[in-house]
Formats: sequence, C-alpha cells, structure tokens
Amino acid sequence: MNLKSLIRDIPDFPKPGIVFRDITTLLSDAAGLRYTIDSLARVCQEMDLAPDYILGIESRGFIFGPPLAYQLQAGFVPARKSGKLPAAVHAIAYDLEYGQDCLEIHQDAIAPGSRVVVVDDLIATGGTARAAAELIELAGSEVVGFGFIVELTELGGRKKLPEVPIVSLVEY
Ligand code: AMP
Repeated sequence: MNLKSLIRDIPDFPKPGIVFRDITTLLSDAAGLRYTIDSLARVCQEMDLAPDYILGIESRGFIFGPPLAYQLQAGFVPARKSGKLPAAVHAIAYDLEYGQDCLEIHQDAIAPGSRVVVVDDLIATGGTARAAAELIELAGSEVVGFGFIVELTELGGRKKLPEVPIVSLVEY
C-alpha cells in the first residue's frame, strides 16, 4: 500500500512556504484508511506497547485515535486546545513558530500508573507531541509510545520526545 500517494500536498497552506500534508484524501480511501489503522495497531502489538489509553491530539488525532484504541482494547483520551474541556484540567503551554498554544486533558481522564500511546496525524517540530507527553506525566502515568501517520524528518521532531518507540508510516 502506497500511503504517500493518498496524501495530498497543498503548497503555501496555511501560509506561504508551508507544504500542508492533507490526510483527508487518505481518510476517504476505504483501503487506505483500513491499512493506516491496521498498520498502527500491528506495530503497537508487535512492540508489546499494551496501552491502557490512546491519547489523541486535537483535532486530527481524534480521527485516528479512537479506531486504534478500539483495536487495541484501550480507552481514548482527547487532548484539547485550551478552554474546550468542561471539568478540571491539566494544562501545558508550548511554543509554536509564532506564539504559543496550550493543550489540556481532564485531570481524571487517565488512571494514575497507566500506559499511554500518543497519536496525531503528523509530527513536525515535535512541540505538540511533547506537550501531550508532559500532560501524561502530569497525570501520573507513563508515555509508552507515539504513533503518527506522517513524519517531517528534516524538522527533527522526534528528538524532542522521550525515548520510547516512535512510529510513523510515511516520511517526507
Ligand atoms: P509540531 O508541533 O511542529 O510537531 O506540529 C504538529 C502539528 O501541526 C500536528 O497536529 C499537525 O497536524 C500540524 N502540522 C504541522 N505541520 C504540518 C504540515 N506541513 N501539514 C499538515 N499538518 C501540519
């Protein structure tokens, strides 16, 4: 399965100089979607990650996280942008290219001492995924792996992450 052929490149989006890797064309391809979820699940099983939860990062991590959690018989936890979650939260601010952003999880979303895999569509600089890992640590649990569809290798994002298995299905 050639996943790269199902991912659409949109030059100069959302701003000049950025090539946006659009996974909506992969999502709408039945075989591609199934292969994507099955591949992530298979690697997690082969590495014996045995997560109690999949933590998905808003918003495209919400697409891939739940079917992966379902396959691995894990729970799903959404990490949301600030101000969206209604109950008490853990929050981590992180740097973007311009300015800052903030990710939050409910304080009671993850039972302490759990094993958690972080999922998002893409890793670029790694700042977002690292913030997600810090949230899991704040919740008293352990990040046991990361899963991405796309990795932009030149940006070196994986160097920002803890030393656990980091899976990506397509590299640019
Ligand atoms: P980063 O924190 O730099 O690793 O950025 C990762 C987040 O930004 C992910 O949630 C991606 O969905 C999004 N993102 C960053 N760069 C791109 C890109 N070139 N194409 C699509 N999404 C991107």
